[in-house]
Order: sequence, then structure tokens, then C-alpha cells
Amino acid sequence: MKKLCAFFLLAALIAMPAPLFLRAHAQGAREIFLSFDDGPTDSVTPLILDTLLEKGVRATFFVIGRQIRGREEILRRIDGEGHALGIHSYTHRYKEIYRSEEALLQDIARCRAAIRRVLPSFSAKIYRFPGGSFLCPRYRETVQRAGYTYYDWNAASGDGEGRFSASELYERSLATARGKARVVLLMHDGVGCGETAKALPAVIDAFLQSGYAFKTLPPQPKRNEPS
Ligand SMILES: [Zn+2]
Repeated sequence: MKKLCAFFLLAALIAMPAPLFLRAHAQGAREIFLSFDDGPTDSVTPLILDTLLEKGVRATFFVIGRQIRGREEILRRIDGEGHALGIHSYTHRYKEIYRSEEALLQDIARCRAAIRRVLPSFSAKIYRFPGGSFLCPRYRETVQRAGYTYYDWNAASGDGEGRFSASELYERSLATARGKARVVLLMHDGVGCGETAKALPAVIDAFLQSGYAFKTLPPQPKRNEPS
């Protein structure tokens, strides 16, 4: 009898759809911060925005300053549709920006100016290191001293690591987020990230079905939590 129960339990687990499996491992309130790096782009960002609008969820876009010219409308759309904007880089050239503290701060300031040229009231001080803060941990303090809060991620679709199909990106997004009550999911809306746009509807549905609330960075302190 025990063996039979175990068999059915195992069979149920195997048959369990991915969203339920996500839910089974994350206890308490669940929240997800979708984040898109390397936009705006003509080919991918509008598709991502269409999906977010259709699904009624918000995300955070860490943009590349030098790509903004000619894509002002896309930037206005990101802002106008309630998403958060953050600074990623002006050039995104690692060799240049990680050369020195001054070079990094200058790059951040240039990106900020490029955003403000289109959105003069832009005041967010959120930042994502190109490649992640672990690439240059010594600069974490540099950006913090400049008043920025940087955000890495604890889950990733894998679209920055190689060429994957939409279904692989979906699987990787869920696999890396599994068991985490607060997920910061790294995705990209850069050139060549068409598969990300294709994967996004299913990724959103999976987290919605698992009871995750979609939020934008920076996270707001919870009411009962000391801030
Ligand atoms: Zn990047």
C-alpha cells in the first residue's frame, strides 16, 4: 500500500505542471521582478511591451543610453505604461566602463542624461552593472556612494548566455526561480532577443498561476516589515 502511495505521489509530481511545481517550493507571499536589460531596441522592446500590456503586469527596464536616440517613443512608452526605468550603461563596453571609478561614474551619468533628454523628470537611482556586480565587486561601493542602488538577479532566462529557443528560455526561467519567494528574473530586450519575446507570455502565465505578484524595482518595504 505504501509503495502504491509513493508511486502515485511520484506520478503526481512528474505530471505536475511547472507552475504548480514552482508554487510547491515557495512559501508565503511571492513576488517577481521581471527585468529587461540592453534595450531599447526596435525589434524586441515593443513586443515585450505589448505582452506586458496584454498580461497587465509591470517590469523594470535597464536601458543602454546610446541606443535611446531614435527610440524616444519606445522609452516614453516604457515610462507611460507604468514600468520602471533603470540605468544599465551608456556604452555597455566593459573595457571602457570598468577601467576606473571615474569612467564608471561618467558612463552612468551619460546614460542618465540620455534618459533625461527624453524624460526630464526621470529621477530613479536604480542601476544594474553590465554583466552583474560580481564582475567588479570593488565598484559596488562606488555606485552606492553616488546614491545608486544596484540590482543583480537570482534567476535568469539564459538569454544572455547563449542562443536558446523560447521553450528553453521558459524552462530555464522557471528552473532558476524554483523555490524562491522573491524572484528577480534577468531577461534581455537587446538585438537578437526575439526568442525572449516569444517566451515571455508563457513565463508570465507560469508565475501568475503560481501566485506571484509582479512588481517593479526598487522593491517597496512591506507594511508589516521594518524598512
Ligand atoms: Zn547588459
